[in-house]
Amino acid sequence: MNIIALIKQVADTAQLSGRMDGLQLMADGGPRIVNPWDEYALEMAIQVKEAHSGKVTLLCMGRAEATEALKTGLAMGADEAVLISDPALEDSDCLTTARVLTAAIRKVGDFDLLVAGRSAIDGNTAATSIQIAALMDRPQLSYVAELKAVDPEARSLTAVRLLEGSRETVRCRLPAVISVVKEIGEPRYPSFIGIRRAAGATIPVWSIADLGLEADQVGRAGSQVMWPDVYLPPAREARVEWIEGSPAEAAEVLADKLISEQVI
Ligand SMILES: Cc1cc2nc3c(=O)[nH]c(=O)nc-3n(C[C@H](O)[C@H](O)[C@H](O)COP(=O)(O)OP(=O)(O)OC[C@H]3O[C@@H](n4cnc5c(N)ncnc54)[C@H](O)[C@@H]3O)c2cc1C
Repeated sequence: MNIIALIKQVADTAQLSGRMDGLQLMADGGPRIVNPWDEYALEMAIQVKEAHSGKVTLLCMGRAEATEALKTGLAMGADEAVLISDPALEDSDCLTTARVLTAAIRKVGDFDLLVAGRSAIDGNTAATSIQIAALMDRPQLSYVAELKAVDPEARSLTAVRLLEGSRETVRCRLPAVISVVKEIGEPRYPSFIGIRRAAGATIPVWSIADLGLEADQVGRAGSQVMWPDVYLPPAREARVEWIEGSPAEAAEVLADKLISEQVI
């Protein structure tokens, strides 16, 4: 199985300083991590490799420092990694990002499975892998919570999708594009050997010229959606009310209040 896993490096939202401008926060906002959803996708990719052999190739579009995210993925158990980085890529919108990643996927070669997280915790459009699937004319399964079966010979895959209030089992042909939710399973910790191997790895960097793209096809010039600003919504006024009494009395008062506010 040739598996490609998409890994995005994002700002560590747990450590963001609210004092900075929103766009700057996303671009340079201090410590950066692997997008948490992508760790779940990579875990699934590694499990498929372990079950069916093959290799996992990581792709990331980002700045030079995103090499660290790829090294984390290599330490977890991916085999190869490529960074797509070019100053011309700044301010790319989601469709342009998908086009760039699609060009990189084509350069990597044929794949059986492409995995991504359900969304990136910064951009949060949850559309990149869907757009890649559309650009490549491949089936796409979003919100995958369980991979029930992968049959490389029959070229098929059966997965469970997590929907609001229900689940559905779906089967599709390979090659396919999948985006996963955390129910897929806890990502493994990088092993000691993995960390040492990743530390010594040289990660190729592909520019837009390496992908056959021109500067006016990417970045601000090649994008149709602009983000003039990113900011927090106005703070909401919070009211705290203590309910006195025994646990049973407090529960009764609380239930009455929730019913009168039509919360339950
Ligand atoms: C400083 C800054 C400025 C921006 N300006 C604009 C703008 O002007 N207009 C605009 O539309 N958008 C802008 N963006 C958003 C940016 O284009 C999106 O991050 C990008 O389009 C991907 O969408 P997303 O982050 O919502 O990913 P999602 O679609 O939520 O991600 C889903 C999955 O796709 C994969 N993926 C996504 N991105 C990558 C990547 N780069 N490399 C590898 N895998 C990836 C991951 O597996 C991820 O879990 C800006 C972002 C930053 C940081």
